[in-house]
Amino acid sequence: MNSHLQSLINWVQEQHLDIAYISNPTNINYFSGFYQEPEERVTALFVFPDQDPFLFTPALSIEAVKKAGWPYDVYGYLDHEDPFALIAEHIKERVAEPTSWGIEKDDLPVFRFEAIMKQFPSATFPADASRYIERAKLIKSPDEIALLEAAGREADQAFAAGFAALRTGITEQAVVAEINYTMMKAGVMNMSFDTIVQAGANAANPHGGPELNKIESGQMVLFDLGTVHKGYISDATRTVAFGPISDKQREIHQVCLEANLTAMDAARPGITAAELDKIARDIITKAGYGEYFNHRLGHGIGTSTHEFPSIMEGNDLVLEPGMCFSIEPGIYVPGFAGVRIEDCVHITPNGNEPFTHTTKELQTFSD
Ligand code: MN
Ligand code: MN
Repeated sequence: MNSHLQSLINWVQEQHLDIAYISNPTNINYFSGFYQEPEERVTALFVFPDQDPFLFTPALSIEAVKKAGWPYDVYGYLDHEDPFALIAEHIKERVAEPTSWGIEKDDLPVFRFEAIMKQFPSATFPADASRYIERAKLIKSPDEIALLEAAGREADQAFAAGFAALRTGITEQAVVAEINYTMMKAGVMNMSFDTIVQAGANAANPHGGPELNKIESGQMVLFDLGTVHKGYISDATRTVAFGPISDKQREIHQVCLEANLTAMDAARPGITAAELDKIARDIITKAGYGEYFNHRLGHGIGTSTHEFPSIMEGNDLVLEPGMCFSIEPGIYVPGFAGVRIEDCVHITPNGNEPFTHTTKELQTFSD
């Protein structure tokens, strides 16, 4: 049995649960090795304290489950069948009347919760599997780190493709298209999120995306991108100059770079997430741009783009080897420009190693 699934079963035992229901497709993959986004259909993993687990999927996915190497039972259902009536039958073959359930409270929609209640009216939900999974994913194994490194190498290739596409008059969206096309041709199956290219003042919106703006000489251009490599994700940001830029633009980049590099130097076992955030934030604040750094320093990364640990004020979690997260200070001056510089790293016994290696010094491109 894989170690992720074994620890989930240990948790079910420790919590004295009769059953755990894993519903999030990314988490089902984490525990079973089978990934599919079922859309409105039901894919579910059921785990018991002292019985073999089973997967439940649409009938059309059974072969894919077997191909993924799942060694336990898998049951299917047809579109016209009631999935939770069938699920109840398979559960009752193992446990006559499970009352104590662990569910993913962050993930399970109300109508599915009600479907469980209809089949198992005495069910109670004392344990939140979402909280357990966050903690379980916090420390990555060497195998997982190798996959994150591979995803990081792909992100570096994607930066190169994006920088090569820059020219006067090309739209942000067309640069995105060049990046995605290059990566798909190179064998990447999915980007980890919608690729972001923002130029000039549009980059001052840290939650924005590409538009149909034409890139012009004298702008800074922000690239935030990543790929999915065998289920593991990269996420990195570089901000570059297109043509000659002003001293003020250069200064913002320099301050953001210093914040990034200082935090990269400081990230090691023993420091807390909040302390690391403050180290970067103090540099930006001292330079007079504190109000323009309006998000946390970083987020955990692994099989999802945002997971634990959150690198922010108030999080007293002490960093340990195997934790993986982003360091991404940003300065967003409305109407003027935005800079963000982001690497994801894993904590090592003595410090950290980044997953991406594209230079962070200000690079200038032109036609
Ligand atoms: Mn990012
Ligand atoms: Mn990020």
